Amino acid sequence: MSSVDGAPIDGSEFVFELCVCQWAERAWPPEGVDTDDSALVVARQIGTKRRRWDTVVVECDPEGLRQRANFGLAELDSDLLHVVRNAPAEWTWYRDALPDPGYPWRYVREAVHEAADRGLVERRRLSNNRIELRRKWEYPDWVRRIVAIENKPDLDASAARALAPQLERDVALALADEVWVATTETGDTVEPALIEDVPVEAGVLTVDADGDASVSWHPRSLSVDDPGTRILERPAGGEHDASAARFEYADAEWKADKRLELAERAYGRGWRAYADTMRPDCRQFRLSDETPGFLPYCDAKECHQTAGQCSGSCPDFEPEPPVWRSGDWPITGGPGKGIKRLLERQRRRERPGLDGES
Ligand code: SF4
Repeated sequence: MSSVDGAPIDGSEFVFELCVCQWAERAWPPEGVDTDDSALVVARQIGTKRRRWDTVVVECDPEGLRQRANFGLAELDSDLLHVVRNAPAEWTWYRDALPDPGYPWRYVREAVHEAADRGLVERRRLSNNRIELRRKWEYPDWVRRIVAIENKPDLDASAARALAPQLERDVALALADEVWVATTETGDTVEPALIEDVPVEAGVLTVDADGDASVSWHPRSLSVDDPGTRILERPAGGEHDASAARFEYADAEWKADKRLELAERAYGRGWRAYADTMRPDCRQFRLSDETPGFLPYCDAKECHQTAGQCSGSCPDFEPEPPVWRSGDWPITGGPGKGIKRLLERQRRRERPGLDGES
């Protein structure tokens, strides 16, 4: 990838991941992949209890995405989704309005209160103490497809072997419509990833020095509407291992709920939240403007630091001088706060309809 001030991008998975997210946001779908005219939500490091993906692209119905903004930037978890998706148009006792959740109603009542406190639904208490609710907006059908990307900048044979079982699980469960591996372009005629152990159902993207990706292998569309198979355990193989694989079925309804929860997580978190766990309040921290996009850069280490390096325990940490945060300093709260606000503004800009934007 390109360099800043002559310092090479170090090729860490973290930096590679940010490059892939920025590319996806500006260029998805890759050339040669047909999709309808979609709006996009891109996120990093999200998933389910059992599986987390490096990059997730949610292809959305543009009008549905705009309507989703009525519910604010923060994600809706499964309890809140249960309320907003079933909230009636007219005032109704919550137990009559909402389907039996299969767990005690007091938890549903709590979720109704939380939804009302967040301004997602209307709520009133009658003289007989009954809680009624009414919807403010219909929850839209905004998610079209979900694409999961695993980032492996150095996809050598051993990395591919380690990755293969994860990808096989993804393919068997089919929670995402497509599964991809993104790796650094090597310049070879045949990308090494293609001849390694990556399952044929997974696509392969190769990312060049400018952070642009191209398709080296097209993925197969997975059957997201059918029941999936959850692989719990698989034998290691070899002549001494005669054990059977263990698996269970994931029904289509469970998958549909999980997909929506995943999309909500992507909507709320995006991929710029790294500034929340790094130290932009360190005077050595800056965002460098590279060909692939903005990347965090550490002047002390003279490289793109990883999220792990850039923490409170970093030996090179130097707090912003107090004067940067006060007096005549041009950025309110100092550059650290300014960087967070910039990333937050960019994230909101990718969510049309928030703050009345179109
Ligand atoms: S010196 Fe340490 S804390 Fe400061 S920007 Fe560099 S890595 Fe982050």
